[in-house]
Amino acid sequence: MTALAPNATIGIVGGGQLGRMSALAAARLGYRCHILTDEPDSPAAQVAAGATIGSYDDAEVLRAFAARVDVVTFEFENVSAVGLDLLASLRPVRPAPAVLRLSQDRAAEKTFVNAAGIATAPWRLVETLDDLREAAAALGLPAILKTTRLGYDGKGQLRLDPGCDLPAAFAELAPKPLILEGFVDFAREVSVVVARGLDGTSAAFDVAENRHRHHILDLTLAPARIPAETAAQARKIAETIAQAIDFVGLLAVEMFIGARGDVLVNEIAPRPHNSGHWTIDACPASQFELHIRAVAGLPLPPATRHSDAVMKNLVGPAETALWPAILATPGLIPHLYGKAEARPGRKMGHVTRLFPRGSLPGDFAIRDALGPLGSAA
Ligand code: AMP
Repeated sequence: MTALAPNATIGIVGGGQLGRMSALAAARLGYRCHILTDEPDSPAAQVAAGATIGSYDDAEVLRAFAARVDVVTFEFENVSAVGLDLLASLRPVRPAPAVLRLSQDRAAEKTFVNAAGIATAPWRLVETLDDLREAAAALGLPAILKTTRLGYDGKGQLRLDPGCDLPAAFAELAPKPLILEGFVDFAREVSVVVARGLDGTSAAFDVAENRHRHHILDLTLAPARIPAETAAQARKIAETIAQAIDFVGLLAVEMFIGARGDVLVNEIAPRPHNSGHWTIDACPASQFELHIRAVAGLPLPPATRHSDAVMKNLVGPAETALWPAILATPGLIPHLYGKAEARPGRKMGHVTRLFPRGSLPGDFAIRDALGPLGSAA
């Protein structure tokens, strides 16, 4: 295994906060980062050694980016297949293009996960209105209709209730094809972030519990308040998926925990994940450090946690306006991403609060512990 030498340059595709926090972790390990982004003033480029600005699908832009870097990784998955292949012909790309293709397509992803013997919600591919009628009859309603591509933060999906207008729902979502997924009446939503190195060793963080508001991640609690056997099963699932795709880099696996402790995979993301931000403050080595170590071919430290943690996202103008109050509150660990404008629904930063291991408080006390953000939690 050849490790990237200190001062080498890691190319990060995508200029958002995940790239920013990856670049900060890389700097601590003695690497430079060069960002590929279509934004002139991006969160990642603000803290990186350099940036190439242009379209993710422009061959000239991709070539210019590749010429400046030693290895390529991602914080943004929606690069075209042709673009990925071009990058991979020029530099090592970690994770591999095949993995990104899988994560860009919900149907391919679920087929892969099911083939690895891992359960998901029951689902059907929907290419035509007749497919949707058959799928609704087979799975029953309520169910969730989702685009297979380009969906995030609840975009590109619709909940279908009994008696709903199927033709209208089918017409509303694009691009096609779609999938219909059986509705999961879950007890908790959790995620596992796992790193896997070039040598095939892996390290999985403890299971985190996620709460969404308006389809956007609001709070993450670490560790998830689930039985130890369920947590062990969730981590095993994440490691099994990483191994089955011969993954190199950082993989986040989102899962539903059913009322009887059954674990269903919802989706996978081959990059650092919002539900892993707590690891910056609660772990000796964060998800971003493990990401960079895996991509650089360095040995992976264990993904241990020294504290329990609550992470709250700062979303949109109202929460961002609390920044001065957050800074004035002892115990809140602030992170801001350098975005100029706090548009509604935009992730502007996050705040972490640590607790000694084993003392994560219940819901009421969590609100209290978040100080000025508590009423928003
Ligand atoms: P996704 O874009 O697939 O991560 O879905 C966004 C959110 O919608 C999830 O975090 C869940 O809260 C909810 N959701 C997605 N799929 C289902 C499902 N099959 N059953 C119930 N809720 C779902």
